[in-house]
Amino acid sequence: MAADVFLWRLPAQPGSELAPADPRPGVRRLLEATAPHPSGAGGGPCVLKIHLGAPARPAVIAPSWAREAALAAAGGASRGPGALATETLSIGTRGLDTAEALRAAAAAKGFGSGADAGLPFIVGDDPAGPVSLAAGDVPGGRLVGHTLAGVLRGAGSLILLNPVRAHPHLGVVGAVAALGLELADRQAKLRLHAGIRPQVDTPLCAGCGSCLDVCIYDAIVIRAGRATIDHQACTGCGECMGVCFMAGIAPDDAGGLVAFQEDVAEAAVATSRALPVAAGGAAAALYLNFLVHLGTQTTAAKARRRPSPVGIGILASRDPVALDAATFAVLEDRLGAPLPEWTGYAQGPGALLARAEALGLGRREHRMREV
Ligand code: SF4
Ligand code: SF4
Repeated sequence: MAADVFLWRLPAQPGSELAPADPRPGVRRLLEATAPHPSGAGGGPCVLKIHLGAPARPAVIAPSWAREAALAAAGGASRGPGALATETLSIGTRGLDTAEALRAAAAAKGFGSGADAGLPFIVGDDPAGPVSLAAGDVPGGRLVGHTLAGVLRGAGSLILLNPVRAHPHLGVVGAVAALGLELADRQAKLRLHAGIRPQVDTPLCAGCGSCLDVCIYDAIVIRAGRATIDHQACTGCGECMGVCFMAGIAPDDAGGLVAFQEDVAEAAVATSRALPVAAGGAAAALYLNFLVHLGTQTTAAKARRRPSPVGIGILASRDPVALDAATFAVLEDRLGAPLPEWTGYAQGPGALLARAEALGLGRREHRMREV
């Protein structure tokens, strides 16, 4: 049976390109539309997976939005029942790659303080925190030794608050990718990326050094005015691909991207299977995709003046595969063009969604309902 996907559209208002409307009413409406909030037996905390974004910028998912979701999930109770916000360690961004730095970034962006003090922030895969969870084997899968962020130990439920954004290996990050990649622990993330080998397209390289500046593994050197990548040091994180204004860095093997996407889909299934089971047998989880504060997504796309929609709204579903299929369709409809026209990356998330569906995470077929 096709899953329900709920869509709340941001109200149109003059000047919304610069200051999109407050999405909190949408968070509340979507939580009401999908009520009751699914929770597993045992009564552990509701884990809200947020996305902090670049260190020097405001949080991509604002603390007040996460707080709104926690309150709505708790049925309006003044304090959520043990809700917490979490983010996991980055493998590619300096300032988000250690627990100490990630906590500081979260605090600087307003998590765990002020009006949101009732919503603690936890580094999901803090090496000093709960030890990682060993994910069970996924029937029909091939991942070996996949490990999940320790924050999922004892969780009562999950609310995934995912800002849709460009990604070099996926094209775009939806709920399935966030579930697979961003609730893995740091070592598992590195393993997932290990098959990606970026190459510099030398005729396109202008030797500007932007890629070198963002590589935290010192894997790039400029020789004779051209960048080259040391694959012994490179982790495949992809940071360099997003900053090249020439779009001159790409994986050397398109098949590697397909394998990556399929592994991330399997990791998403493994994460889902590690969550408590709610009434009806599904994982105690709710997924939200934010099409808010959208902009041109890569330096190359910006340089080429690719179309850049502003905020569209928020979508929610209990089925992450249906949610992503619906979200990408809404985005393409607004663009009037395929996703690469917006992201600046040639690839899309087709292999990811196909594998997630084949492994039983959900179905792309869906019914859209506006709230
Ligand atoms: S960012 Fe692009 S153009 Fe600049 S040095 Fe790196 S590969 Fe070359
Ligand atoms: S060279 Fe490799 S490690 Fe460095 S930013 Fe690019 S993908 Fe990441």
